[in-house]
Amino acid sequence: MPSFSKPQAILCDRDGTLIQDSHFLSHPDQIEWVPGVLDALKFLKTKDISVLVVTNQSGVARGYFPVEAVEAVNDKMRRDAEAATGAIAEFYYCPHHPQGQVIEYSYVCECRKPSPGLFLQAIADRSLDPTRCWAIGDRLRDLEPGLQLGMKAFLVKTGYGIQEQQDLSKSPFSDQITVVSSMPEIINLIPNESNYPQLKKFNVTHSLG
Ligand SMILES: [Zn+2]
Repeated sequence: MPSFSKPQAILCDRDGTLIQDSHFLSHPDQIEWVPGVLDALKFLKTKDISVLVVTNQSGVARGYFPVEAVEAVNDKMRRDAEAATGAIAEFYYCPHHPQGQVIEYSYVCECRKPSPGLFLQAIADRSLDPTRCWAIGDRLRDLEPGLQLGMKAFLVKTGYGIQEQQDLSKSPFSDQITVVSSMPEIINLIPNESNYPQLKKFNVTHSLG
């Protein structure tokens, strides 16, 4: 396992990574957290590492549910995270699909992953240094926009992760992707801060010449 330095922020996929993938999940009652994720969010908060959720929600363009349903699920996830004394700093979602049914959302957008639009938005909103960010997801398309921007990338084996792992060798980024069992495993890759060089304390003495 390669070694990593502490990330500034983690850009994390939603369905299949933070919560179990359920076909076009659209109601807060369907939320089922991947085991250990809420504890991981709590740990990341103590380390002052922001968690940003970046998610494709093409069910909106397909006419399966309105944007309000996406926001209701996101709000419930935010509350669950806070109840566990963790935090999700922001949700970024793409409601589009090129072949959708709802005209308003059916076009080739800049934000549907693997396009980088949502990642660029998050970086701009929070003045992030992408080389100090991690991208995490269960599909290669969740990771590729991050990798193109210089992020570290982690493929989880939850959701579609096992299937995606079979295509890993075809990705131009295959040697830059670290496979982990599930999202909480990444906290083991964050170095303990006691390993960081400490700033030396010193006293300034003025000498009168
Ligand atoms: Zn979009």
